[in-house]
Amino acid sequence: MPRSRPLPPSLERVFPRTSGIGPDGELTIGECSIPELVQRFGTPLYAFDERGLRETMREYREGLSARWPNSRVCFASKSLPCLAAYALAQEEGLSVDVAGEGELRLALAAGVDPERLVLHGNAKSRQEIDLALRVGVGLIVVDNLHDIALLSELATGTQDVLIRVIPEIDAQTNPAIATGGRTSKFGLPIDQAMALIDQLQDHPAIRVRGVHLHIGSQILETEPFAAAVRVLGELGEFETYNIGGGLGVNYSEDDAAPTIDAYLDAVTEAARQAIPAAAELIIEPGRSLVARSGVTVYRVRNVKQSNDLFVAVDGGMSDQLNIALTDDRFTAVMAERVELRPDTTAQLVGRQCESGDLLVDRARLHAPRAGDIVALGATGAYGFTFVNNYNGALHPPVIFCADGESREAVRRQTYEEFIAPHDRTGLPAHPHTFH
Ligand SMILES: *Cc1c(COP(=O)(O)O)cnc(C)c1O
Repeated sequence: MPRSRPLPPSLERVFPRTSGIGPDGELTIGECSIPELVQRFGTPLYAFDERGLRETMREYREGLSARWPNSRVCFASKSLPCLAAYALAQEEGLSVDVAGEGELRLALAAGVDPERLVLHGNAKSRQEIDLALRVGVGLIVVDNLHDIALLSELATGTQDVLIRVIPEIDAQTNPAIATGGRTSKFGLPIDQAMALIDQLQDHPAIRVRGVHLHIGSQILETEPFAAAVRVLGELGEFETYNIGGGLGVNYSEDDAAPTIDAYLDAVTEAARQAIPAAAELIIEPGRSLVARSGVTVYRVRNVKQSNDLFVAVDGGMSDQLNIALTDDRFTAVMAERVELRPDTTAQLVGRQCESGDLLVDRARLHAPRAGDIVALGATGAYGFTFVNNYNGALHPPVIFCADGESREAVRRQTYEEFIAPHDRTGLPAHPHTFH
């Protein structure tokens, strides 16, 4: 098979590491042709660069351990909760964050070592904590006093925990994904957390191993992370300091997210000043670990010139709900002719009944027509996470691509599965049949 040529530099920073241009000018990922994937699996679909994802995992893990040997990288699995991603994280030596019983079950089903799991949540259920204790989750992050009550009641051995504090750092990001401000619903104010740590000193079943915070998401500078390390350092001496995730990524050519190296430099330099040299340092990247490795692929349903030019595709908010929560807008390419110079500016919209169903504001495209294939870069994080059935859209499949081979990591939902949970009692015995 002829190898792909590199993408133009402006696209390279937004599209996956192994993406390129195939012999017919088409977008490739892991030497898999996007138009061929579409033929095989249909649209919309999520395509992932498996090698690129592994490389980013390694960049984080090796980069952090070179700078701070007693450290762990936890994959914040809510950013891509599919079994294949959990399995890759385990294979690449990462630990895994889970929030809630569902993510915990996914991690266990993927074969992640429970000792490497960190359980989060601001509203943990009794059942969830009970399951975590029974399977032997390595760390539970305590968010509130109810967590302590449940742990005291249910623990049979000793459970290691981190206490989550409100850092009171207002990082510059969208309010929907900021978690570090004074009024955050996550964690305890610092004075309450300190009192709790004191109180737990002689607890028979709960061992406080350290402290945790998370300042928000899609943060495009390194200083707030250094500040987060300093906040934790000021809480006192612990075995473990967990500074959460939040590093931002490039969604368009104009974004300038810090590199992983720059982030790790900032964090570990601050750690050298602020925490004991032998302490364990944990980071929890989600978005910056997976976003660039994924693209979402659509087919154009129609092009309409009304009071604006609209290019409407066969997905939208049903597979990219994050566009409703943040102002992030993506970078689109015509997947069958990546190199041809854009000659059209259009609103790239989805098919859902919402004006906010806008995938790219003023997208630059080459001659878009009905039937064309469009790929959105850097959609590997929080797209599949928020997948939903709005307007009866079915959940798209997740396709992992590497070395010219593709595999269906999650298959497309079917209409049978979509309709199955509904109760049919009292409905006509012989509903309309059709093919
Ligand atoms: C969401 C979350 C993360 C990951 O955040 P990203 O912005 O995706 O890196 C890490 N830690 C906790 C506790 C989180 O809630």
